[in-house]
Amino acid sequence: MAKPNMCQSCGMPMKVSSDFGTEKDGTPSEKYCHYCYENGKWIQPDVTFDEFYAFSLKRFQESDMNRVEKFFLNKMYTKKFLKKLERWR
Ligand SMILES: [Zn+2]
Repeated sequence: MAKPNMCQSCGMPMKVSSDFGTEKDGTPSEKYCHYCYENGKWIQPDVTFDEFYAFSLKRFQESDMNRVEKFFLNKMYTKKFLKKLERWR
């Protein structure tokens, strides 16, 4: 895998173990972050693609990024980008 540490649902980079979601047996998920996936289940199982995009973008914008990171976020974090992740293919 080229980018193993990016959540395949929301695109969040996962660096430390607390960023990763968990499988049913408690092991860390290799693909999804803890905002999207816990205990083998989606946090928001019925969310639509558009809702999820708006929700995630807001979450990233409100996180403690610096101005440069926010600039790139707004450029990079598009629906096109999100559509490429495994959950939305
Ligand atoms: Zn995620």
